[in-house]
Amino acid sequence: MAAKQGTSISVEDVVAAWSPPERLLDQAWAFQALLHVSNLAVLRRQLGVARAHSLVLDVAARLADLLPAAAITTAGRWVVEVDARISGASELYDHVDAIAAAFAEPLQIDGEMHAVDLAIGAVGGPADVVSPIRLAEEVEDALVQSRSDHAPVIRDLSEAAPQIDKLALKRELKGAIDRGELFLQYQPKVHVRRQDIASAEALVRWRHPARGLILPGDFIPVAEATRDIERLTLWTLEQVIADQQVLRADGEDITLFVNISGQLLSDPRFVQRVCRMVSEAEVKLGFEITETSVIRDPTSAIANLNTFADHGIAIAIDDYGAGLSSLAYLKQLPARELKIDKMFVMQLTSSNRDPLIVRSTIDLAHALEMEVTAEGVETPAALALLSVMGCDMIQGYLISRPIELGVFRQFLRDHKNAALVDTARATFRSAAFRRTAA
Ligand code: C2E
Ligand code: MG
Ligand code: MG
Repeated sequence: MAAKQGTSISVEDVVAAWSPPERLLDQAWAFQALLHVSNLAVLRRQLGVARAHSLVLDVAARLADLLPAAAITTAGRWVVEVDARISGASELYDHVDAIAAAFAEPLQIDGEMHAVDLAIGAVGGPADVVSPIRLAEEVEDALVQSRSDHAPVIRDLSEAAPQIDKLALKRELKGAIDRGELFLQYQPKVHVRRQDIASAEALVRWRHPARGLILPGDFIPVAEATRDIERLTLWTLEQVIADQQVLRADGEDITLFVNISGQLLSDPRFVQRVCRMVSEAEVKLGFEITETSVIRDPTSAIANLNTFADHGIAIAIDDYGAGLSSLAYLKQLPARELKIDKMFVMQLTSSNRDPLIVRSTIDLAHALEMEVTAEGVETPAALALLSVMGCDMIQGYLISRPIELGVFRQFLRDHKNAALVDTARATFRSAAFRRTAA
């Protein structure tokens, strides 16, 4: 489609051109729901810690009876995921009504009746229009909203694919920070051998009043293009420093990592401001930088990274393998951690090539005295293979999706002294409840 000069064709136009609403009427819909046991603290007191922590399996069992064609998966101790194919919007609402009704009655647990309160986020949309990634992102946000609204949140995603108008985003991003529309989620990194939470990565999100949740992949490039990235990153750092004080008060002393865009690495003003912030507050910070960000202006990037490292900031190389550089080149950086890009990790058990790449990267990184983190660890099989390969840390949905500070604090409390990796394994072994959607 050729655009006349000066005329812009929006994503909406393109989507409307290839998928008129009539076409969607016959399509099967994808349905996804996340259910979070929200009165776990009460149940822990009533049932004891061990029994309360396996309660999620009772919830999964009831759902499996209720929706026999759905795939039911437990994710951690509090969350159950439901995936199904449905006929359309009315079934989306019917499913949620049925789930809410099923849990309105107390659940029989070891012969006693206990009320189980659930936060429910549910989404549905035409399977050929709504990507699995969008489905997952929207359902997570619906769950977050349900937790604060104390009511099920249902989103019909049939109104075509996400329509990100970069020009509008550019205009709106400036005020988004002041209006408090940006927020952070944290995703833990788990040390495989030590079985503890080694650190966590802060990931920024934008809750747009009209467009809903916007993920960083859509607005970070905009922020970089408009130079708003400096303000955004300083806001992120301030927030992370404040959140770390909260974690400290909980007795948690872990490093929090922030993603730093390449263009900031060679910006002397940014470097100065960060060093001042870090000197004023007692923080355990880490920066994740990509290999390509250094290639841009290696001399000043390397000098500035050394300055950050001198200020006690841990440096990790992010998305390793997605760019072009060699490890020998990256050895010049004061980085002690290498994060293997999730594109290699997610195919680990299904591809012939990726295990070889991951294995040799781990060995070479170790020879260069770096610890290796695998990102995008979603399955117990990937975890098993990575631990055999000697991978030091893992990050991914198997352990936890990115979660807001309040939920992260609860996560840390619950996992204190617990064997996280085994817990994850056990949880996923209990996928006896997993049923394949028809
Ligand atoms: P990243 O730093 O590589 O972050 C990891 C991304 O992988 C995150 O996506 C995370 O949600 C996702 N992820 C984690 N575990 C899994 C998994 O098991 N499976 C799958 N499929 N995905 C997983 P997210 O949050 O959308 O972030 C995308 C990118 O946006 C980040 O990639 C990072 O480059 C950038 N970003 C996020 N926050 C910031 C920020 O504050 N500043 C800057 N400059 N960039 C940021
Ligand atoms: Mg990162
Ligand atoms: Mg990454």
